[in-house]
Amino acid sequence: MSASTIDLHNHSQASDGALTPADLVRRAHAAGVQTLALTDHDSTDGLTEAAAEAARLGLQLVTGVEISCLWQRRTIHVVGLDIDPAHPQLRVGLAQLQSERQQRAERIAERLEKLGLREALARAQAAGGGQLTRTHFARLLVEDGIAKDLKQAFKRYMVQGKLGYVAAQWVPMDTAITWIHAAGGRAVLAHPMRYSLSGAWRERLFAAFAEYGGDAAEISTANPDLNERQLVTRLCQAHGLMGSAGSDFHSPEQSWIQHGRLAPLPEGIAPVWSGFRTAITRSH
Ligand code: AMP
Ligand code: MN
Ligand code: MN
Ligand code: MN
Repeated sequence: MSASTIDLHNHSQASDGALTPADLVRRAHAAGVQTLALTDHDSTDGLTEAAAEAARLGLQLVTGVEISCLWQRRTIHVVGLDIDPAHPQLRVGLAQLQSERQQRAERIAERLEKLGLREALARAQAAGGGQLTRTHFARLLVEDGIAKDLKQAFKRYMVQGKLGYVAAQWVPMDTAITWIHAAGGRAVLAHPMRYSLSGAWRERLFAAFAEYGGDAAEISTANPDLNERQLVTRLCQAHGLMGSAGSDFHSPEQSWIQHGRLAPLPEGIAPVWSGFRTAITRSH
């Protein structure tokens, strides 16, 4: 079996993805993905539509969510996989994060109006109707010619210390892991090399994540850097974590992220998907 068959980290218009859930599933399927998780930011709203399209195509859909967390005052993302999206504890928790997102978006919009971005909140809301993220506002900055591309929009306006950055009260990382487990899922530390952390802090993050009962970390990502991959592999082994594979796909315009191109997990790393309730029969 080729290495291209599983991708457990993807976004749709239920948060900051550019595609509808059905279009995301069709695109992944066309690229050869056989097992796909939809993991929108703090939302499971896209899962019903994605599951219907996946059933039609014969693609295996894994339920998922990417939860915005705080750990040691830093923003950390924890992906929940194979969750029951109807579980009350998870539902109530996500509702709380969604209200936090809405309030933050209102404040971001007010601040960006000062740059001449008109109708920022209404336009952000009109784009897909999902959870509002910084990406929505970054896209508007590009659309209005205030930034030349998404990368510049983030760097100049949407990161900590810039006009469009508003800190949010995300959920403590251990709480997010508790919700995911309550909903029957597995908790995965998302893109562990993307946080700006020193080696010592990254080690502490893995230790805390494992201590809180976290299950796995993403090893196979869209980033082809072999040194980083080896580093994460070593951290997983040191802290008894399984491995996961996910592209963090948001949009066809991110040409460096291609569905169906993830490397297989390294030897000796247990795949997080081996214990899923929806048995994944295909090997990676
Ligand atoms: P939020 O959770 O609303 O703060 O938004 C975080 C999202 O913004 C991430 O999931 C990424 O999709 C996106 N993002 C963060 N930093 C960048 C960046 N430098 N360039 C492009 N997208 C980014
Ligand atoms: Mn995102
Ligand atoms: Mn993330
Ligand atoms: Mn993501």
